[in-house]
Amino acid sequence: MEEFCWLNGDLVPVGEAHISVLDHGLLYGDGVFEGMRVYNGRTFRIREHLVRLQQSAQALKLVIPYTLDVLTQACEALITANKMDSGYIRLVVTRGEGFLGLDPRNCDTPNVFILYRGLKMGEDTIQQHGAKLITTSVRRAPLDVLDPKIKTLNYINNILAKMEANQAGADDALMLNHSGQVAEASAANLFIVKNGVLSTPPCEAGALQGITRDAVMELAIRSNIAVEESPMSLYDVYNADEAFLTGSGAELIPVAQVDGRQLQHAVGPVFLKLKLGFHELTHK
Ligand code: PMP
Repeated sequence: MEEFCWLNGDLVPVGEAHISVLDHGLLYGDGVFEGMRVYNGRTFRIREHLVRLQQSAQALKLVIPYTLDVLTQACEALITANKMDSGYIRLVVTRGEGFLGLDPRNCDTPNVFILYRGLKMGEDTIQQHGAKLITTSVRRAPLDVLDPKIKTLNYINNILAKMEANQAGADDALMLNHSGQVAEASAANLFIVKNGVLSTPPCEAGALQGITRDAVMELAIRSNIAVEESPMSLYDVYNADEAFLTGSGAELIPVAQVDGRQLQHAVGPVFLKLKLGFHELTHK
């Protein structure tokens, strides 16, 4: 079956969708993006994702040439065209084609494209046994270098972090900020549970304001689980009863081990409760 993407206003077969090699998203990582999940034909919290996209673009002084309603309709059309009711959407806005030289004034029109891919489903071994994390030597960029709220195409730090995890035989990497506080994983937020209290690092510590993170905090409140955003050190993570990662692509991933320290629970009761709640929320 032919796979479609959406490129600058049109549904186009993926094999025929082309972007110039002079696009500044490719040359300089000058652009923003979102990753979203589709469940039963509906894009989970699409409005929140598109608002975050727009706020990231605003921070880069990048004007998206489509309204959020048009982008929403584009995602819907793409889901229909690809005849798949579950999967992952990647929406990218680049500064557009320009000359060599990083000045954004070289670029007339942003390029906007949306990809939609199916995901392999089913319980994997990480869901059963928990993930193994290491702390990476790559620090999360500080606020005055690149505000972690901005979801730019600049993911090289995160990629280096992931490579370090791969090298160590771990599933993912924890990134610290310059004060040594835990920020998040390479492309997911972190939660820990200690004595029944759920905690996640605040955005000021270098965490992206994850849409899944928000959903999990709401679920916790509804389930009468105490939840807080609080700065945390590796000591707190090593001594947690439970830990897990959240992200649109990742959903909820239990963490069993951090830097060789086995946590109290590889797959804990709070995690399981929230995972079930998240499944109900996304599939209702
Ligand atoms: N942190 C980073 C660096 C990410 O790339 C992602 C994935 N978008 C997340 C956290 C999780 O965010 P969300 O739940 O909105 O997908």
